[in-house]
Amino acid sequence: MSHSLKPVVFCDFDGTITVSDNIVAIMKHFKPEGYEPIMERILSGEISIHEGVGAMFALMPSTSRQEITDFVLGQAGIREGFAEFLQHLRDRDIPFYVTSGGIDFFVEPLLAPFNIPSDHIFCNGSDFSGSNIRITWPHPCDEHCANDCGMCKTTVMRSFPADQYERILIGDSLTDFEAAKLADRIYSRSHLTEKCIELGVPHIPFETFIQITEDFIRREGANPS
Ligand code: MG
Ligand code: ZN
Repeated sequence: MSHSLKPVVFCDFDGTITVSDNIVAIMKHFKPEGYEPIMERILSGEISIHEGVGAMFALMPSTSRQEITDFVLGQAGIREGFAEFLQHLRDRDIPFYVTSGGIDFFVEPLLAPFNIPSDHIFCNGSDFSGSNIRITWPHPCDEHCANDCGMCKTTVMRSFPADQYERILIGDSLTDFEAAKLADRIYSRSHLTEKCIELGVPHIPFETFIQITEDFIRREGANPS
């Protein structure tokens, strides 16, 4: 019975919490020598996100850290209604996790105003001790995932067993699709919506977090607990 399960929300970052994709924006702005063929090979599926993102940041000097963070903080927009959605969840004790393929040195500063506990933010790490940026991968795929994700969203979701949790996913891209297949409820936009339609996976399209909050409220009205 779904009402005996505890709801938990897993939310993508780039293109979901933020209006656009930050890694793409960083590369297009700083244009490190040689990033374009790597980006193309990621997009064509020739190399994994893990391999490609690591290789692109390795083209950038560690000294550019602050400049990159400042750039992201200056240009990334937060999708409308995000703060209100978080408040709605807090008022109901519904846990919220960020599951992001982004990197800590821009994900964490962008999320700082929203007071999300740091152990609720899953993203990749970074090491600036060498001459060039090295991405670290603290959340790799478990034995059930062979996608070489980098930050594995399905591995995070599997740590919340389906017989105890109602797993709710919010995302925008193909990298969210494997996680979406594990979810009990999917809020989707952009490529994730297209993929769900293509494969007949039930989903709730959204463009703002206001719409998601409204859908939560509607469901509470339908299932008073
Ligand atoms: Mg995304
Ligand atoms: Zn994985």
